[in-house]
Formats: sequence, structure tokens, C-alpha cells
Amino acid sequence: MESLAADLKTMVRTPLAEAHVEAIRTISKEQTFSSGDMVAKVGDPMEHFIYILDGEIEVVDPWTGERYLPNTLGPTQFMGEIAFLNGGSFSLPMRAAQDTRVLCAPREDMLDLMARIPEMSDHIITVFSARRRRQIEENDSSLKLIGADVDRNIRDIEAFATRNRIPFQSVPIGSDEAGEIGLTCNVAVDGPRVIFGKDRVIEDPTPAKVAQALGLGLQLCDETVVDVLIVGGGPAGVAAAVYAGAEGLSALVVDDIAIGGQAGTSSRIENYMGFPTGISGADLCWRGEVQAMKFGTRFAVPRRVTSVNKREDGLFCAMLDEEDEVCARAVIVATGVQYRRLPIDRLEEFEGAGVYYAATDMEARYCRNTEAIVIGGGNSAGQAAMFLSRSAKHVHVLVRGASLASSMSDYLLGRLEADPAITIHYNTELNALEGEETLSSATIRRADGAEQRIACGAVFVMVGAAPNTGWLEGLVELDDKGFVKTGGDVGAASSLSTSQPGVFAVGDVRAGSVKRVASAVGEGSVVMSRVWEHVEASRET
Ligand SMILES: Cc1cc2nc3c(=O)[nH]c(=O)nc-3n(C[C@H](O)[C@H](O)[C@H](O)COP(=O)(O)OP(=O)(O)OC[C@H]3O[C@@H](n4cnc5c(N)ncnc54)[C@H](O)[C@@H]3O)c2cc1C
Repeated sequence: MESLAADLKTMVRTPLAEAHVEAIRTISKEQTFSSGDMVAKVGDPMEHFIYILDGEIEVVDPWTGERYLPNTLGPTQFMGEIAFLNGGSFSLPMRAAQDTRVLCAPREDMLDLMARIPEMSDHIITVFSARRRRQIEENDSSLKLIGADVDRNIRDIEAFATRNRIPFQSVPIGSDEAGEIGLTCNVAVDGPRVIFGKDRVIEDPTPAKVAQALGLGLQLCDETVVDVLIVGGGPAGVAAAVYAGAEGLSALVVDDIAIGGQAGTSSRIENYMGFPTGISGADLCWRGEVQAMKFGTRFAVPRRVTSVNKREDGLFCAMLDEEDEVCARAVIVATGVQYRRLPIDRLEEFEGAGVYYAATDMEARYCRNTEAIVIGGGNSAGQAAMFLSRSAKHVHVLVRGASLASSMSDYLLGRLEADPAITIHYNTELNALEGEETLSSATIRRADGAEQRIACGAVFVMVGAAPNTGWLEGLVELDDKGFVKTGGDVGAASSLSTSQPGVFAVGDVRAGSVKRVASAVGEGSVVMSRVWEHVEASRET
């Protein structure tokens, strides 16, 4: 299966071409570091591209101050990883291991240069992406999440980090490692904690606070008016982000949870052209995000658009989390759908503590040593069951009807039926959830009234989806189910235009759309020509 980036371990180390180094020199200043000087501390913004002329730079263990990785960076190599593109911050400290001389190019100038020299850009982005992959695979990060095993907030942060491809280390509460961290940081680790670097404890941690520490938030002062605001970072929004950047529009993508959307929760997409052995939805969207950032599109997560108003001057102004405002000449609605909740007692109590709406690597970890229940008869439920069967003791799929033939693809149903780790329960519904702090069992009920209690630590709810359009009230016309009406239905010339000129809708959120990754990507891509026309016209008025 295709992965998010090349593998650093097997990559041939190729120096930047001499001509590219010369180009970088034109926008750089030379800087020197004496042996032992810190080049970057944890949390420092990646404001410069640093190319090493002579000397050596090492990654430092933020806890012990010792060299962290055996490999160091030397002449012809450069510092940084993918967070550089979005103005993120260093998650591991870097230090000169010898007297070192570097070229130091301001980030914005370097991004301009990369846009002008695609071969150089490809080289740098390939290395940056491979470094991020290594960091994720090896858990190389000074972001420590202590207590996801017992605390819902920490689990939320873990989910946020996992889905956004942010490296972190997860440490069980009460473990030796948690004790050592406490001693090194001089912090009492008697409860759940989020620690970034050696001396920064994030108090009352939330995904938003962690994002801020990592520089993933939005610097609103430089971004208050953009050409196009893309609301939603699923496949449709990410495709729009790539095309907006490529067309030279200033664009901002805002997502309230994670770049990747629903697709980001799919462990294996097998029907997307170009990936014959499949690709995880998160990896596919991450590749798109990197591509869009390369073209200058900005991303902000987790930020929720709560409303949009049209001003008299024609600009659309969106409220983010009821606190910040971003204005744009055009808006793309790409907020997709989300699974409906079930009317079951204690559902909310167990959400994040046994009840889940996505089956990613992280949730799969929570299923080790326990049985799992997947509720739903669609392809997403089928994929989730297949994926979870690799880690859970056993997977029960609950289907309300008597057959899956009309709701699930044939190939998937065949695999489910053939897997001894999966049992499909037809004519069956979830009846009750049981447990104390976390879910420990669930009772299912068949149509004949027979009940069965299953000892299980995880229930995945994947039933019917509702559009995320509450924030659009009064701005555009919706159909009776809440999907955004476009094209002929609202008298618009383009099939992706809504009833409000300047506001476009793409992907699952659009009434009548085909609910697939490929169609979401297609709509996100083709909408840009209309957006461009609107933006140009609005600039002239
Ligand atoms: C488990 C699973 C497996 C799937 N497998 C396949 C498959 O194999 N092949 C296939 O073709 N399709 C598959 N699908 C369907 C496919 O993922 C969707 O059709 C596709 O993701 C739709 O993309 P989208 O960008 O329109 O919306 P979404 O993917 O739903 O993304 C919308 C994004 O908008 C964000 N958002 C919502 N409201 C706000 C707000 N107010 N402010 C900011 N952000 C907001 C959401 O958090 C989300 O990230 C699968 C779906 C699931 C759930």
C-alpha cells in the first residue's frame, strides 16, 4: 500500500544542486554557530531555511540534552521538515555539534524561490516529507501525552495529533517513563499531562492549545483577507486548496478536526485512481495538503467556522470558534457529512471512552485485547470491520436489515464473510452500553427480542450521515435534509455555485453529490475556475 512519503532509511542522500545552492545564497545571510550553540529550541517557529555550508548540526534529546539521533546533518544538507511550509515550529531541539557555518534564508523568500524552481522544491519537499514520516514512525517528538489510557482529553489530543500526522509520544500514566518525565521536568505526573519540550506543561490541554504550541494555529493578523476561504479539509477541500494555490489565489483552509475529513478515517482507499494497491485516506489527503502548502495555501486546524456573513463591500466574513474573523472574496463550502449519533442511553458519556465514529490506527490500538462492535451496513462500516479485525479479539458487525447486498460493495461483503475474526449479526441493533469510566460491554438485541451481552471495549457507530451545514443558515439555500443546493436547483449557471454568488459547494455536503473520494476531489478541483472568475470580478469592482 502507498504511504505518506518516501522512507528516509532507504532514500539515497542527494545534495542540493550547486545552482540551487547559489539561488538560495541570493536570499540568505551567512550565519555561524560555535560548537554547542543551540540552533533551534523546541517551539521556535521555523522562520528560516537553514542550509549547512560547513560543520555539523545534531538533534538533541530535550530531556537529557544528549544527542538524540545517531545521524547528524552536515555540509550540503539542510534543516527542517514539512512544518516549515505552514510556518510551524520545531518539535525537537537542534544544536551545533561543531563550529558550523550556514546559509539562513527567510521562510517567505524561500517559499517564493521554491515556487520559482520546481526541481529544487521537489527535492526539499521529498526530504521534508520523509523526515516527517520517520518522526511519526519512530515517535520522534518532544510532545509527550501522558495518560491517554485514562483521560478523555488526552485521548482527544491523541486523536487530533494522529489524524493530523503530528508526531508525539504516548506515555501510560503510572509507567516508569511517566515517572522519569516527572523527575526530568520537575512536574508532578500524578495525573494526565501534556508536555512539550522539557519545561513546558500545557495546562488544561486541548487540541487547540497543542496546535498553537506547534504553530498550526492561524496568524490572523497576516491572513484576515484572503481570496478564497475553504471551509472543510476533507478530500474536496484539500483538492480545492491545491488548485487555488496553483492558480495563484491566496487561500486558507479551515477544518475543525483534522485535514482528511471522513477519508482521513479510512485505513484503505482502494478505488482511487493511481493507487493500485490502495492508500489510506489520511495519507492521500496529507499528500494533497503538502502539495497545496507548496503552492502557498495555508491550513488552520482545529478551527471551526460558526457563521458567515456577507458584508456590504461584497466580502464574506467568517467567524472562527466565535472569536476570530477571517474575510474572503469567495467561500468554498466543503464541510462534508458526519455520522449520526444513536438514540442510546449513556452514548455521550462513552464518546471517546469506548464509543467512536472513526476507525484509525489510534482506535485500533484501543481495541487490542477486547472485542469490538461496528454498527452500520455501508462500505465505511465494512472497511472499519476489516481493519479492526487485525487488532481486536473479534469484531461484531450489527446490521439492522436482513442483508448487506444493497448497501455494501460485493468485494467487501465477500471479505467480511470470509474473515473468521468477524461475525455479521443481521436484524440486530445496539440496545445498551455498560461500564464505569470507560465502556466494558454492550447489549445487542435481535428482531425476535433475543438479547446478548458482548464484553467489548469499543463500539464504532457508522450509521447514516447528516450534512455539516448548521453554520450556513441564511446564507445559502439548503434542501430538506440540510444539503447545499447548487446549479440548476437554485438557478445558478455553474453546477457547483450556490444560491449566493461567490459561495460554492463541493463534495459530500452538496445536494445530489456522489459520496466518494474521487468525486469530492473532482469537484474541489474543477470549482476553482468559477472561483477564480468571481475573485477577479470582485477585484475589479
Ligand atoms: C470510514 C470511511 C471509509 C470510506 N471509504 C471510502 C472509499 O474507500 N472510497 C471512496 O471513494 N469513498 C470512501 N468514503 C467516503 C469519502 O470519504 C467521502 O465521500 C469524502 O471524504 C467526502 O469528502 P468531503 O471533502 O466532501 O467531506 P469530508 O470528508 O466529510 O470532510 C469535511 C471536513 O469538513 C470539516 N468541517 C465540518 N464542519 C466544519 C466547520 N463548521 N468548520 C470547519 N470545518 C468543518 C470536517 O471536520 C471534515 O474534516 C469513506 C468514508 C468513510 C467515513
